Amino acid sequence: MSLQHEVENLLNTLGVTAHGAEPVHSPVDGSQVATYAQATPAEVEMAVAQSCTAFKTWRMVPAPRRGELVRLFGNALRDHKDNLARLVTIDCGKPLSEGLGEVQEMIDICDFAVGLSRQLHGLTIASERPGHRMMEQWHPLGPTLVISAFNFPVAVWAWNAALALVCGNSIIWKPSEKTPLTAIAVQAIFEQAVRDFGDAPDHLSQVVQGGRDVGATLVADPRIALISATGSTAMGRNVGQVAAGRFARTILELGGNNAAIISDKADVALALHGVLFSAFGTTGQRCTSLRRLFVHDSLYDSFVPALKAAASSMPIGDPLDSAHLAGPLIDEAAFAAMQAALEEAKALGGILSGGERVTGNGVYVRPAIVEMTEQSGPVLRETFAPILYVMRYNDLDQAIARQNAVGAGLSSSIFSTDVRECERFLSASGSDCGIANVNIGTSGAEIGGAFGGEKETGGGRESGSDAWKAYMRRATNTINYSNELPLAQGVTFDLG
Ligand code: NAD
Repeated sequence: MSLQHEVENLLNTLGVTAHGAEPVHSPVDGSQVATYAQATPAEVEMAVAQSCTAFKTWRMVPAPRRGELVRLFGNALRDHKDNLARLVTIDCGKPLSEGLGEVQEMIDICDFAVGLSRQLHGLTIASERPGHRMMEQWHPLGPTLVISAFNFPVAVWAWNAALALVCGNSIIWKPSEKTPLTAIAVQAIFEQAVRDFGDAPDHLSQVVQGGRDVGATLVADPRIALISATGSTAMGRNVGQVAAGRFARTILELGGNNAAIISDKADVALALHGVLFSAFGTTGQRCTSLRRLFVHDSLYDSFVPALKAAASSMPIGDPLDSAHLAGPLIDEAAFAAMQAALEEAKALGGILSGGERVTGNGVYVRPAIVEMTEQSGPVLRETFAPILYVMRYNDLDQAIARQNAVGAGLSSSIFSTDVRECERFLSASGSDCGIANVNIGTSGAEIGGAFGGEKETGGGRESGSDAWKAYMRRATNTINYSNELPLAQGVTFDLG
């Protein structure tokens, strides 16, 4: 069966079709698999107006009841997990096991959000005034815009949507223009949950398809209360500035330039495994992909050849075939960016192995390992491709300093069995990233923790822990149950 037929069948099982003026090409083999329609300006305007109306109703629904919708959505995802995962793979090219993992992540965050719907609690705070009580409440915030990137075409939306829904917000999703099909499918699954729920407001969660122009229109709209934007740092710089201009709240989840340190006290076999998955799994197309590796001098001459051998024999090909550990790059532009970075690294003295194109349809490449003496040029920025820059180190403090000496601050790890080294890495003067791991790679986070990074990664946090607070507004309430009107800080205002 051609991919085009498979896409039609997968969408048919959900009772939807994709059609419009824009072609959709699958990175799996480069073929056109569907068409889709971009939203017109009038449709964008209508979506925002409808989202405002839906919010006014949804915010008054008790939070545990809102959780019931998310519970039903999680169950609908369980029913459609296999089909949606195949569509994820066809849409963005990640291996099917990772497509299944991505849908599982959606289910997991739904479970988390259902529990959260009964725990959106504030504090009771001691008042300094007699006969007074002080407390804080968390209220729904408003229409929430979710802008997502191609490489996690469904999970990133779910991280945001599950929390936003239990927090009482309406949602507009602007998916990546590179992966429109999965958004159509997820919307159909969500609408099934809405039907089972019974009395959710219309247009509670909508998809608005289109490119950066559509995204920019939505970002500028003063009726959107919260913008959760996932993508490149260049995108976030633009979105952040526009949002700041109108004091909108943002959650920015941007690019990473993640590093790992391989200590001379590492469990070498474990480190090798962790490095391979982090650097070359998902074809290096995760925000948390490992891009820089600092290897202790005493291990370097054995570890790096072993890494090169393992990388060169990694099975690469059709991501729907479970024999392959990595699929294609998203498109030709990604390949051109990869080659440009490799050329620049070579010109700076980098020694390259791998990185060549694998013949066949689709943009398949061998993982690239570049040995560098200096951390310069392309090593300092994110190239969204399977390139690992490898450098020697002698002194842990120096390795941590070099790890931190880049713009991005998303993910980091150390491989060591020495507790002092590990704790040093995790301490206030250790890794400056939002994610710091020990004896696992930089990628593959769980939903229970707050996810995000510092510096040019944008500072946003989403998913677990207390990330839900970004989706609500906090009101501090002081209640006077006395017959007096004492003022705080001893201030007097005596009417005589
Ligand atoms: P991208 O920045 O090209 O696009 C991401 C999304 O932003 C798309 O939906 C796009 O249409 C939209 N967009 C672009 N410019 C915009 C603008 N000015 N206003 C409004 N919307 C705009 O990113 P991509 O190529 O799809 O994804 C790869 C990038 O995303 C990498 O940099 C990766 O590190 C990052 N990423 C970050 C995270 C994270 O959680 N930190 C997760 C996944 C991907």
